[in-house]
Amino acid sequence: MSCDARGVLLVTREMEGTFTHVARQRIELHCSLPAGHAGPHRDELNVQEWLVVQGRPTLLLRDESESPESANAAQPRPKVSD
Ligand SMILES: [Zn+2]
Repeated sequence: MSCDARGVLLVTREMEGTFTHVARQRIELHCSLPAGHAGPHRDELNVQEWLVVQGRPTLLLRDESESPESANAAQPRPKVSD
């Protein structure tokens, strides 16, 4: 008998040149660990772990932007005076 906990994973991606994240994919998570297991729930199929906050629907976000570094590079750097 499996744990049977469920959750939803939204895969998002940052739109190029904006700070807008759009949902690309909605994945239903299904815990495949045995019932009564310790620790977070785990969906082996989607390689995702999650914790259930009591009284709330489980919704996870996964950012799959192609170049997360570029978002940081776009930030204005503090000028160093010399
Ligand atoms: Zn579980």
